[in-house]
Amino acid sequence: MEKKFTTRSPEETERIAADLAASLRAGAVLAMYGDLGAGKTCFIRGLATGLGATRSVHSPTFTLVNEYPGRLKLFHMDLYRIRDADEALDFGLDEYLHGEGICAIEWAERVESLLPAATIRVTLAHGTDENERSIAITTPDLNS
Ligand code: ADP
Ligand code: MG
Repeated sequence: MEKKFTTRSPEETERIAADLAASLRAGAVLAMYGDLGAGKTCFIRGLATGLGATRSVHSPTFTLVNEYPGRLKLFHMDLYRIRDADEALDFGLDEYLHGEGICAIEWAERVESLLPAATIRVTLAHGTDENERSIAITTPDLNS
């Protein structure tokens, strides 16, 4: 199933993510796609809010994983500096992907082959003006 949205502020993007967070179950994986500045981190900030995280979300620029405790533990990963799936396995991505927490992964295309079948894909893109973004959220239908 695919849902599409257009937002006109970072707050609006965060709200969509927070709504999605309410429906997430333990172990959910979200793969985030989109250029630099598209709003991937902003979206994950909304997820954290929706999960009741007590710390605020910042880009994990020098670490690969940031952890946010909440209703469900959120793992925020930024794989910009990762070259391929092998390198991601070296830091233990697999354990996160198959654990009980929620994984939200920026630059997920780097590890496409490792993503579980149930991965929720979130694609963000710049719109026609500075504050416009399109967001597509695809949830796989595993029964078809
Ligand atoms: P990414 O993680 O994809 O590189 P960020 O979330 O770090 O992107 O940055 C998005 C930037 O775009 C922020 O500076 C944010 O304030 C700005 N922005 C403007 N409009 C929007 C919008 N509608 N949704 C999300 N971010 C927006
Ligand atoms: Mg980012």
